[in-house]
Amino acid sequence: MTTDSGNLRKIIHIDMDAFYASVEQRDNPEYKGKPIVVGGLPQGRGGVVATASYEARKFGIRSAMPSKKAQQLCPHAIFVLPRFAVYKEVSVKIREIFSRYTDLIEPLSLDEAYLDVTDDKLGIGSAIEIATQIRNAIKSELNLTASAGVSINKFVAKTASDINKPDGLTFIGPSKIESFMENLPVEKFFGVGKVTAEKMKRLNIHTGADLKKLTEEQLSLHFGKIGRFFYKIVRGIDERPVQPNRETKSLGAEDTFSHDLTSIEEMFEQLDKIALTVYNRLQRYQLKGRTITLKIKYSDFKQITRNHSFASGISDLSTIAETAKELLSKTFSEDQKIRLLGISLSNFGEIAPSTNRFFDTSQLELF
Ligand SMILES: [Mg+2]
Repeated sequence: MTTDSGNLRKIIHIDMDAFYASVEQRDNPEYKGKPIVVGGLPQGRGGVVATASYEARKFGIRSAMPSKKAQQLCPHAIFVLPRFAVYKEVSVKIREIFSRYTDLIEPLSLDEAYLDVTDDKLGIGSAIEIATQIRNAIKSELNLTASAGVSINKFVAKTASDINKPDGLTFIGPSKIESFMENLPVEKFFGVGKVTAEKMKRLNIHTGADLKKLTEEQLSLHFGKIGRFFYKIVRGIDERPVQPNRETKSLGAEDTFSHDLTSIEEMFEQLDKIALTVYNRLQRYQLKGRTITLKIKYSDFKQITRNHSFASGISDLSTIAETAKELLSKTFSEDQKIRLLGISLSNFGEIAPSTNRFFDTSQLELF
């Protein structure tokens, strides 16, 4: 970054390129250079694409697309079931690389994280240099590629990491932010989904420059709470800190099963086991939580969560297990196949600041 940056932060967003598919291509040399689709298989109903290799993307295959449709688009695509344990292992190694430079790491998923390197451990000082070293380490040590975005805040860094994908690095310095934001199509704005984008287009808002013409009140009127965020972001202002250890806000356990569960008895049995793991972890950390959340992932990779909150914190095994079963019973229907169950506790008593809560409202997500 520039030497006259004053109090400006140095934020890096790192995003692995086609992560699951790249790991599969790395571990199976016969997949190299081929269209690989990681996710549900196209046979039968249900399966969806988790990640497609760049070779597969050329055919229009995208994440969350039904695997059947992916097969129609590219009949010679190779479908591979995900190996989450492996991806998790790689993810831990990537995080270890990050931690050589900073402890301010906020993982967004297995393959994506924000790093605040304003005050890096090695005294390197240049965020571009750090991002370069990280990308090189990922390449030489893990044989994978990552793209990086470097800027002074999370939003611009994340948007930037997408620009020169795959295997790219994009730096948007303070003097470039304004024009960068003005030229950005609204779809690229964080928090703008399909519905919001359509609404914006009806209002004749196509780019950041159009968005900038609206007052804060107008934006909040049209888009609610997030409208005020757009007002700031289009001016290059994003003060959200990089929050390490977000995961300590909740504690839980989950299990992906070797075969999909179809009977409620089987599901209850698994919930008992998972509840025991959660209970042991709570004991270890001496925590009581007020909210129990049940996570269900179906065979088609659709995921839902259901939760129940108590008036005071709980940590006993039977309450955890029984509450999880009750939550499951309420959603159970005969024809459902479940590939993963998870239980977590949260609301540990401290006041949890949730300033960016509206980004976490993905009620239906993949994995
Ligand atoms: Mg990625």
